[in-house]
Amino acid sequence: MKLVTVGSVAFDAIETPFGKTDKIVGGAGTFISLSSSFFVKKQGIISVVGEDFPKQDLQEMEERGIDLKGLQVKEGEKTFFWSGKYHNDMNSRDTLVTELNVLEHFDPIVPEEYQGVPYLMLGNLSPQVQRTVIERMNVRPKLIALDTMNFWMDIAWEELLRTLSMVDVLIINDEEARQLTKEYALIRAAKKIKAMGPKYVIIKKGEHGALLFGEDNIFFAPALPLEEVFDPTGAGDTFAGGFMGYIAKTDEISFENMKRAVVAGSVLASFSVEKFGTQRLKEITVEDFNKRVQEFIKLTDFEINSI
Ligand code: AMP
Repeated sequence: MKLVTVGSVAFDAIETPFGKTDKIVGGAGTFISLSSSFFVKKQGIISVVGEDFPKQDLQEMEERGIDLKGLQVKEGEKTFFWSGKYHNDMNSRDTLVTELNVLEHFDPIVPEEYQGVPYLMLGNLSPQVQRTVIERMNVRPKLIALDTMNFWMDIAWEELLRTLSMVDVLIINDEEARQLTKEYALIRAAKKIKAMGPKYVIIKKGEHGALLFGEDNIFFAPALPLEEVFDPTGAGDTFAGGFMGYIAKTDEISFENMKRAVVAGSVLASFSVEKFGTQRLKEITVEDFNKRVQEFIKLTDFEINSI
């Protein structure tokens, strides 16, 4: 097993200018593992759901090589629920409801089979749970990436800083990077984050792409301009899953390889936003992925002579 993901497996209710959903399956761990399953045939997930979570969705995850030994199902309890409403620009949103439910007292278990895994993706969850997973790994994975959000900065600041000091890569959006560092300029924010622990920092800017900082280098990947963004929920997690899945598959930790991983993450995220929830991610094929990689290359390729 090359990759283990930690992150919420959830119900989401989403409202966008294009429509509204009742409770559908979402969660950071769900989006990450579905996305990384394009690159790794076998992976683990550490999370928790209530007895209300649909068995069908768990089965579909298993069919994609996502091992569920680390996913606890709590009888008599309810799955984490999040609800959000997007503004007209689709880049910003308000959280309407966060019901932690099973996440409130979640004690993560690291199954024996997950020990010794080289790549660990700590998706959005309480920083204390994220840290507990690192501590319960007998051997430190060779690359640990972490995602978080404003919710945890607001309620678990100290815990977050402690966990951050233990990881190699932070994947975060621009607004959160500013909240974390109190710096507006993202280059300064990235520098401050590096001083907090991670050697690499990825700052996502929604439809404006993503920046990778590391080894005294900066790389920028655009987001693919789309005619219609239907639901951005999970785009960040899909990006993170694509990024870590690509690194795990290629097994190379270098700035150059991370550039390719950022593009892989951006490509998968560009699909994810085309439909509500995880629907689009489940539909696309490796051919769709490869075709869109070529579109990315075309979008950014140019030649210019010096004057
Ligand atoms: P993203 O759009 O990439 O920021 O991720 C959205 C996903 O994060 C949704 O599917 C939610 O279920 C999940 N989520 C929202 N709030 C939290 C939270 N506080 N902890 C863990 N997961 C969350």
